[in-house]
Amino acid sequence: MRVRFAPSPTGALHVGTVRTALYDWILARKTGGRFILRIEDTDQERFVPEAEQIIFESLRWIGLDWDEGPGVGGPHAPYVQTQRRELYQAAARRLIESGAAYECDCSPERLEEVRKKQEALKLAPGYDGKCRRRDPAELAESRRQGRPVVVRMKLPPAGDVSFVDLVRGKVTFSWATMSDFVILKSDGLPTYHLAVVVDDHDMKITHVLRGEEWIASTPRHVLIHEKLGYQMPVMVHLPLLLAPDRSKLSKRHGATSVNEFRDAGFLPEAMFNFLALMGWSPGDDREVMTRQEIVDAFSLDRIKDSPAIFDRTKLEWMNGVYIRQLTPRQLAERLIPFLEQSPGGLPPSVPRPLDIGYLEKSVPLVQDRLKTLRDAADLIDFLYAPEIRPEPAEVVQKGMTVATTASSLGRSLQVLREAEPFEHPVLDARHRALAEELGLKTGQLFGALRVAITGKKVAPPLFETMEVLGRKLCVERVERAIDALGRSEARA
Ligand code: GLU
Repeated sequence: MRVRFAPSPTGALHVGTVRTALYDWILARKTGGRFILRIEDTDQERFVPEAEQIIFESLRWIGLDWDEGPGVGGPHAPYVQTQRRELYQAAARRLIESGAAYECDCSPERLEEVRKKQEALKLAPGYDGKCRRRDPAELAESRRQGRPVVVRMKLPPAGDVSFVDLVRGKVTFSWATMSDFVILKSDGLPTYHLAVVVDDHDMKITHVLRGEEWIASTPRHVLIHEKLGYQMPVMVHLPLLLAPDRSKLSKRHGATSVNEFRDAGFLPEAMFNFLALMGWSPGDDREVMTRQEIVDAFSLDRIKDSPAIFDRTKLEWMNGVYIRQLTPRQLAERLIPFLEQSPGGLPPSVPRPLDIGYLEKSVPLVQDRLKTLRDAADLIDFLYAPEIRPEPAEVVQKGMTVATTASSLGRSLQVLREAEPFEHPVLDARHRALAEELGLKTGQLFGALRVAITGKKVAPPLFETMEVLGRKLCVERVERAIDALGRSEARA
């Protein structure tokens, strides 16, 4: 199996496009075939120079290595269309010579006139075929004058065109809905239709996977294949990717490119798993699957023919599952770039680089609560704060006064100074005993301590947190809370 991923370098890679690449890659890996990357950059108007790098980066990030293509070469190099113009020009010449295509020097003004007339008569817009009978001498004159000359494919006079799509079965279009289309532009570059056919043939592509939005282009490709005497590859049009409101997934739904998801703290393995299920299912109720499990289970006949809904909440859930599977060390390593970035990470006052050892001890406190790597900074910032300035009103718990709170924290200080080892089971047991001795509910004592230690009312498990912070910091923070209570009492 030889499959190709053929993005156009027009900007960031949309998740729908990456899903196509994913299926290509999976098929190639499953069958021992080849995964080919080809850059379709013949539309110079939409060309964005950085986009090629973004494509490479995005594919690498999600773990799709290509067997042939830019950077790795291969028997059909180059794999960038603007470097392959002679091939397309030769194909266009062959099509002209056989009468399947012709040159056209109609001016943009004339094309506009034709369009307006068709509109007035309520006819489908399209080229009217004037140059099918163009005198070669006139064309030559146009050339001499420097007027643009393009090459158009001649459509069959009427009737239908059919092809088999692996997902949709037999698909039929009427030629009447199309008109003689451009295959070679006046700058000598091919249009998508010609380039895609020439390259898929030259690169011996056996299966073309692409989004359903391309299905209406396929009749044109069928025609070019036929006229060049090429055999069609197997066509596989993948279902659309829609937002939960069933409209096309676009910017207004939030992130749409893989880069954005990467920067938002999604793990590539979660993204891989999630995208694999956008339009395919393993045929059972498995959802969380490793890359290998997906490769093993994949088959083209279980690609769905109904649109796939891209549900970010579900992706977040899946990302959380993958985050929980990481060891503390792995999670710490993944978190570092997110915590060190600014803005979005820990406050700039926290010195970089972060100590991986301390982070590794900290992450189990919050691992269960992370949906994305970006969530961590807000959850663990208190572990890095040089000091906590708790609000006295928040330290004082229901049913307690400033004085009873201060004295209870004072007793806790003793525990913190003496507890041996300074580990959570000991801290937990000693504080439970203390609450009982003081006639407090554990919630009261622990609540006051939580605010003193973390500055927050909601925080990770208290005694585990204390253990991570260590004796010295805990003592300091509780002392500071007691001071703050004392000052507030004095003011009152
Ligand atoms: N260059 C097209 C794109 O940007 C590829 C379409 C196809 O795979 O044939 O998606």
